[in-house]
Amino acid sequence: MDALVLLGQFTRAVPPPTEPAGGDSAFLVLLILIASAIAGYLAAADRKAGWQGALMGFFLGPMGVIAALGIDRRQCCVTCGSRLEGNCGVCPHCHRQRA
Ligand SMILES: [Zn+2]
Repeated sequence: MDALVLLGQFTRAVPPPTEPAGGDSAFLVLLILIASAIAGYLAAADRKAGWQGALMGFFLGPMGVIAALGIDRRQCCVTCGSRLEGNCGVCPHCHRQRA
């Protein structure tokens, strides 16, 4: 028998290697968690809570991204309680000197 024909029969007899069950879905879950971490970071970055948002997105998935929208780590004005942007010396809302 010709060697090429023999090789052809051998390769047809052996099924192609398959990935273990769930390999694709595990990769998809990891992709979703990484994308959620990035989205959580972007959702909370402008309120000084980017890394907290990224962790929530990674561990809680898309629900963590929604929860990251509620995080606010900016300082509060001691007089009126409104959130302060950056290192302003005077509160832009009540115009009191910042303590
Ligand atoms: Zn104020």
